[in-house]
Amino acid sequence: MIRVYNTLTKTKKPFEPVRPPKVGIYLCGPTVYKPCHIGHMVGPVIFDCIKRYLAYSGYDVTLVVNVTDVDDKLIGESNARGMPMAELAEEMTADYMQNIEALGIDVIDHFPRCTAHMGDIIDLVERLVERGHAYVSDGDVYFDVTKAPDYGKLSHRPADALLGEGGGMAERKRSAADFALWKGAKPGEPSWDSPWGPGRPGWHIECSAMSRALLGDTFDIHGGGLDLVFPHHENEIAQSEHATGRPYAKYWMHNGLMQASDELGKVGGRQTRAREGDLTSQEVRKISKSKGSDAFSEMLERFSGETIRFFLLSTHYRRPIDFSEGRIQEVETGLETFYRFFKRFERVTGESFYALPAATQRAHGDFDPGGDPLLEQVAELRDRFLADMDDDFNTGGAIGALFDLVRALNKYADQERLEEPGRRTPEKLTPLRQGAATLRELGPTLGMFRTPVEEAAAGAGSELTGKLLDLFVAIRAEARKKKDFATADRIRDGLAELGVTLEDRPGGTEWTLD
Ligand SMILES: [Zn+2]
Repeated sequence: MIRVYNTLTKTKKPFEPVRPPKVGIYLCGPTVYKPCHIGHMVGPVIFDCIKRYLAYSGYDVTLVVNVTDVDDKLIGESNARGMPMAELAEEMTADYMQNIEALGIDVIDHFPRCTAHMGDIIDLVERLVERGHAYVSDGDVYFDVTKAPDYGKLSHRPADALLGEGGGMAERKRSAADFALWKGAKPGEPSWDSPWGPGRPGWHIECSAMSRALLGDTFDIHGGGLDLVFPHHENEIAQSEHATGRPYAKYWMHNGLMQASDELGKVGGRQTRAREGDLTSQEVRKISKSKGSDAFSEMLERFSGETIRFFLLSTHYRRPIDFSEGRIQEVETGLETFYRFFKRFERVTGESFYALPAATQRAHGDFDPGGDPLLEQVAELRDRFLADMDDDFNTGGAIGALFDLVRALNKYADQERLEEPGRRTPEKLTPLRQGAATLRELGPTLGMFRTPVEEAAAGAGSELTGKLLDLFVAIRAEARKKKDFATADRIRDGLAELGVTLEDRPGGTEWTLD
């Protein structure tokens, strides 16, 4: 049974969708005014993984990630650059989509753009005005917080802690905590016609309108970064529930933000201290002046998408992620353990790991170990993986189970000396194949190990390099057989100087590139 931590109730409870087996998920997406950095990729990777795991568990999931393509920041940036807002939004949306694709995120069903949902937004604002929950003031429309007694229920904030906007907006509001649903256009700003004159929507109302258009008044999971709990999500709930008279999202899931681990205390980003009893007692800092704020496309030149995905999933999603390139390198080294096993599996069985038939539904992945010691271990580790994922999507714990699984399979191959062709009997290969099929079943629920990695990303060099190294390894093995240790050592040492490490295993020699 899957259990989910809900920010709204501050409890971890069994996941019970509103209309099973259907599940609707809405994740707040980017404001497309500048190229994205790795911090923008945390939510998409986590919710891609949550969708995959729910689908594997038998649910029919719709995942929506919005694109905010009209906003103060966009207007400011388009003025600074002297280019039309729509053009800027188009360019930055393309950057976002490229990065999403590089990370293997391909299960998002809809990317609604705010400017394509003006009718839905205006409709929702009109409803709020009709119901007396919003008022018009000098071309702006504001939500009246005093008419919403449950305002603050998500962020669990006392009423006196509510923030308000300053400047001209403050003058047009009845009380400080009221927030804009519609902003009247200033001269030269992009605008849309509305019953209140030309203007544009406030940021919060966009998400209420787009989630309603695609998932209905009530849906299952609303996600976003911890920094969005207040005011963005608090305002979304207030708008949606008072406009429709129905409950909005059933579960609110918030991911931890990324902080620069090597620059703690020096990062100049906005800080939010989680309140007592909140998701985390740690301070979370947004990256701003570290390498993490580099354009994500540049980071993709140094690391593969799969490595970055593995890095983002190695921490529980509710915790802050410590960012440093050193940490990503560590994760990359760990990932190579899997890639080496996949090559070994192919050497031993003659089959590609990626072509192994594997269960895509949880119910089909069970197997009977039949008293086989390896398979008993595999079944136990599969159970551990599932228990971790069921426990509020603990991807870090689940990845630990995958490491133990690959270790168990390597140990078995060592003990049974499967690198020696004569030892490869069907009885010996069957458990290895089943173990690998389980890895092939579980990895993709995290979005991992779905397609063969590029040889270069696996640290294996080009195809020709691989063949040449295999040739050296074979010549060295022949030399050793003839007790010509001088030649054997010369090959090993010469390769070491070139950054190639040879590892003698019971059944043969493996090479790895630095
Ligand atoms: Zn949003």
